[in-house]
Amino acid sequence: MRASQLYFPTLREPPSEAELISHKLLTKAGFIRRVAMGIYAYLPLGYRSLEKIARIVREEMNAICAQEIFMPALHPANLWEETKRWDECDEILFKLRDRQERPFCLGPTHEEVVTDLVRRDVHSYRQLPIILYQIQVKFRDEPRPRGGLMRAREFTMKDAYSFDKDEDGLEKSYQAMVRAYKRIFYRCGLRAIPVEAEAGVIGGTENLEFMVLSDSGEDKMLICSSCGYAANQERAERRKPFEEPINMYHQDTMLPLEKVFTPNRKTVAQVTDYLGVSAEKLVKTLIYIADGKPLAVLIRGDAELNESKLRRLLGVPNVRMADPDEIRGLTKADVGYSGPIGLSGVEMIADYDIAEMRNFVTGANEDDHHFINVNWGRDFEVTRFADLRFAKDGDGCPRCDSGLLHLRNCIEVGHVFKLGTKYSDSMNAKFVDEDGVERPFIMGCYGIGVSRILAAVVEVSHDEDGIIFPITVAPYELWMIPIDMNDDDIAGAAECLYSELIQAGVEAVIDDRDERPGVKFKDADLIGAPIQIIIGRTYKERGCIEVRLRRDKKPSLVSAKEALGHILQLRSTLYEELMPRD
Ligand SMILES: [Zn+2]
Repeated sequence: MRASQLYFPTLREPPSEAELISHKLLTKAGFIRRVAMGIYAYLPLGYRSLEKIARIVREEMNAICAQEIFMPALHPANLWEETKRWDECDEILFKLRDRQERPFCLGPTHEEVVTDLVRRDVHSYRQLPIILYQIQVKFRDEPRPRGGLMRAREFTMKDAYSFDKDEDGLEKSYQAMVRAYKRIFYRCGLRAIPVEAEAGVIGGTENLEFMVLSDSGEDKMLICSSCGYAANQERAERRKPFEEPINMYHQDTMLPLEKVFTPNRKTVAQVTDYLGVSAEKLVKTLIYIADGKPLAVLIRGDAELNESKLRRLLGVPNVRMADPDEIRGLTKADVGYSGPIGLSGVEMIADYDIAEMRNFVTGANEDDHHFINVNWGRDFEVTRFADLRFAKDGDGCPRCDSGLLHLRNCIEVGHVFKLGTKYSDSMNAKFVDEDGVERPFIMGCYGIGVSRILAAVVEVSHDEDGIIFPITVAPYELWMIPIDMNDDDIAGAAECLYSELIQAGVEAVIDDRDERPGVKFKDADLIGAPIQIIIGRTYKERGCIEVRLRRDKKPSLVSAKEALGHILQLRSTLYEELMPRD
């Protein structure tokens, strides 16, 4: 490609609304343009990179015998009503009506559509397993779309769905997908870590997120430096920080319990301000209803209850916060004055943190009053201690004896789920097994953010001059800069090498524009093709062409005659670096 013909409108300044480096650089380098909030167009360079990522995804999906299909973006509401997600996903669904007033949505994911397809045509265990995938645009009506391609309202995903006859089959499909995912991210130049995660609205039993460490990532994960345990912040467990039985004889002596007047002080901040203590000295008493029964959850004032942990601990489906009337019925006080003392007949579950606390503040179960110098064991009994808050930096690792968890920002680039029968049950999708018995399909679903990979690559691979593309994802492998196209020697050598490169199948751009060398260098660095070729002074003086890598810019000089061989060698080395060895 000739730069004089290539449509790559680079900008001097990034768009003012851009916060993330990938948003800034992809816009500045002429890869993407914003059409509306959270909606982007891909210009030629951006689309080439996107297609390269898609090609890698396709190759790895096909290698595990997943079959490519293409489903509609427009989904009839009735399919989503079958799984109840028409209402459950209301916050993110783009809903619309056709001219007959029939309701539709723009698909954010395709479990309903694919399950409907399979239930119509697959009836026997002999037709299983099946893995279907597609690469397609998805839609999410994000309340605050920002970050360019990182969290857009229209984005490109690879989504795959496996249908098996039993759990063993699902395990095989799932593990094949996990291996394929590792290869895909590696080939894209990303070091993605599989982490344990919560299932969210997709549902199901087991799942993993693939996370790329990046300071700008909006997800958070905890990772153990000793054993490698990794989980996202919602899922991360922590080591029990004490031995059973709990040592009751702390160094602090228990002070006399005292009820104090705290008029209109309800929040942690209000109470601790008023009493002049820190939030670590207060214990919040949260009233929950689990399967119709009230229970109290005790959490240190500076921490936040992780409801998923509470749900998992209780093991019952219906867990919710009590409403103000229920709280008053139980505690005889307003929300904000609940406390553990005197709450009879209520299970009292305390976070691990509470075990080590002495002389703390709690609500007094009386309006405008709190207790100070509260001590568990003396003033009330804890039914059980458990891991209930979000894990944080420095917590003990739950999988090894000595490791500590480190909190890191990260970008989610993929997610795999074992769905089990969640969708096949609700959509009545069944096959007949070996014994002639009808059974629901055992399903898995597997997503990769194709457009988000592009953003993630830029987030983790750039410098102050621009993008540094891995060769597999770069829009062009090589960018050639003849510093003066009006110089016949330089132009002649450049054109000659360019046609050799094209013949050899190298994806090369020759910057044949009549621009100052500074402009050409700036654009080449901004766009970030991995191999740069400079034909200028050293060619005039010594017949040498300068070859350098975008990532280190260390020049090596090769004679014009040897240039092609040298470049081809360099190119295959760059590809080899990104070949997974598994
Ligand atoms: Zn560990």
